[in-house]
Amino acid sequence: MKKVAFYGKGGIGKSTTAANVSAALAEKGHLVCQIGCDPKNDSTRLLLGKACAQTVLDMVRQNGDEVTTEQVVHTGFAGVKCVEAGGPEPGVGCAGRGIIVALEKLKLLQAITDEHFVLYDVLGDVVCGGFAVPIREGYATDIYIVSSGELMSLYAANNIAKGVARFSGRGRARLGGIIGNSRNIANERELLCEFAEKLNTRLVAFIPHDRSVQQAEIRRKTVIELAPHSRQADVYRRLADYIVENTALTVPTPMSLAELEELSLTYGD
Ligand code: ATP
Ligand code: MG
Repeated sequence: MKKVAFYGKGGIGKSTTAANVSAALAEKGHLVCQIGCDPKNDSTRLLLGKACAQTVLDMVRQNGDEVTTEQVVHTGFAGVKCVEAGGPEPGVGCAGRGIIVALEKLKLLQAITDEHFVLYDVLGDVVCGGFAVPIREGYATDIYIVSSGELMSLYAANNIAKGVARFSGRGRARLGGIIGNSRNIANERELLCEFAEKLNTRLVAFIPHDRSVQQAEIRRKTVIELAPHSRQADVYRRLADYIVENTALTVPTPMSLAELEELSLTYGD
């Protein structure tokens, strides 16, 4: 079983990328599970064709120890198993703590055993310990960071790399690469390539900013499902193939803020 996590700045494209990679893996016949670790409960929407009706934490609150696998594992596009951790109401309680409870529950249920791939879609950067859980507790081993070339996205990506480096001594989590998700800024691919190199990893994909993503999103579908013959779908398929094959996992070497700013100036001006 390959245990993969997608991290990155808020709104950068983690859920979209994860759902399209899950769909690409599943259409090839792999058994896949995607786990949304985000109280917004929207990670698996494109795979399920709707918002997930029952999150793990909803079911724990409702049924306590009686929760069953069937209540929390939902089947989406091409048989992808979809799970949403859930969370507290916005503004109430600790979302990070909720993720810990949800992942522990899934483990206890032995809900994910036969899958070839488990993809964790994790909110934001690693500011709260709860969001580091997939890395820290060994749930995920192959960490991918989604980033555009924008400075604040690189800044978040660099912080996540610090988190991966920090926990690398304790567990098996390593950086698999940077997934570029374009915002159409100047020299973006070259900038991301150098950023990845500085972090001791590689730019493993450069995903164009494309209308088909929005067209699919408003229809609650992945691009793989809505436009299977499109170039964008092939970009996601290539990324999925890369993740399958990738064994070049590294302990990242994060940059200083000054270096990061210098890099942005060099390429973005
Ligand atoms: P959050 O941190 O809030 O969970 P996220 O990182 O999961 O956000 P998404 O929800 O996947 O981000 O994407 C944010 C928005 O960007 C969505 O409207 C999505 O459709 C759009 N988007 C993502 N990738 C692309 C792309 N390559 N081309 C065009 N639009 C994109
Ligand atoms: Mg998301």
